[in-house]
Amino acid sequence: MRILRRLFTKPEARVALGLNSSFRTVGEAETALTLRGLSADALVAEAGRADLGSLLRAMAAKGNILMRGTTNSFALMPFVVGMYELQIARLSKELTADTASYMREGYGLELLTTGTAQTRIIPIGAAIRPEHRIADYDEFREIIRGAGGKIAVLDCVCRRGADLAGKPCKATERRELCMVFRDFADTVLREGWGRSLTEEAALELADLNQREGLVMRPSNEREPQFLCACCGDCCGLMAVIKAMKRPADFVATNHRATSRPDVCVACGACARICPMEAIVMDAQSERTGKAPRARVLKARCVGCGVCVGACKPGAIALERLPRRYEPPRNTEALLERLAATRPTLWRKARLGVGGLLGIPVRPHR
Ligand code: SF4
Ligand code: SF4
Ligand code: SF4
Repeated sequence: MRILRRLFTKPEARVALGLNSSFRTVGEAETALTLRGLSADALVAEAGRADLGSLLRAMAAKGNILMRGTTNSFALMPFVVGMYELQIARLSKELTADTASYMREGYGLELLTTGTAQTRIIPIGAAIRPEHRIADYDEFREIIRGAGGKIAVLDCVCRRGADLAGKPCKATERRELCMVFRDFADTVLREGWGRSLTEEAALELADLNQREGLVMRPSNEREPQFLCACCGDCCGLMAVIKAMKRPADFVATNHRATSRPDVCVACGACARICPMEAIVMDAQSERTGKAPRARVLKARCVGCGVCVGACKPGAIALERLPRRYEPPRNTEALLERLAATRPTLWRKARLGVGGLLGIPVRPHR
């Protein structure tokens, strides 16, 4: 509630009731408000705006709703990833603290137990091998090239929040590293929250993010709206995934790491960089005399490939999981699938408890 009050005024919150996850024109939003027994004119007057269109545009300019400029239409978006990431221009210590406690108090678990994942994890370039026959939606270069030139970059709101809380990110000193595409890119550029990137500059940025060991996390769409570059500490959602006993159960991924004991020199670089604490170093066996080596805990591995980039001798690689996870085409399809696969409260509770206790679960269909 505190977060909602920080983001919306009262009339804005009521106007949001006239929207849903599909883009609506001003006229359609007005009709939806009327059907709910709300007067658009009264809400516009209360907000001190000239008309419903300008009120909706003002809400979009605050990052509370998404605006599609080409059709002058508006849609709701999730709090994470969505509204919160677009608060970059008006981020405060208070909003950061409220969001962190909201994540801890249940929203994080709520996000992990939707019937369809809202984000995915894709492998870094160094971890991709031809034999993976990787799909375009799992390949960051194809994601960037497929955006049709609508690419922008903005500061990572989680790391900016961590700065405000006095706990700066340990993985990178850069802040401008979140890429957005399509409607999100239009919004970011229109409101001046970030800057435009050419395809080439976006590929370079993705490369740099990968060299720093950041995890590539796009929205769960074949035509994604964003490509985050997360670490296990600053990103609220990654922290919740990491807190699970079996993070792999809660992530949409098509890959998993596997180590080669005969090549491993037990330097520990992979274990230090893994954002999920998915690699343990086995000590030398006194009984068999086996050399120390890295071992991947399958249930903790989310297939980001960051360890592969860190392993100089090439003793760790990604393998493709037998089950292939194919994302919905775009935002509308994702939201439809989310609605169609919404679990019951009972199932959600079972998934949450299972995740915390380490019982194998499969929340995403
Ligand atoms: S990159 Fe990760 S840490 Fe940054 S805004 Fe995106 S989700 Fe949050
Ligand atoms: S072991 Fe860790 S770093 Fe390697 S792919 Fe799995 S989660 Fe990523
Ligand atoms: S980085 Fe490579 S060589 Fe070093 S411990 Fe990990 S798997 Fe072994």
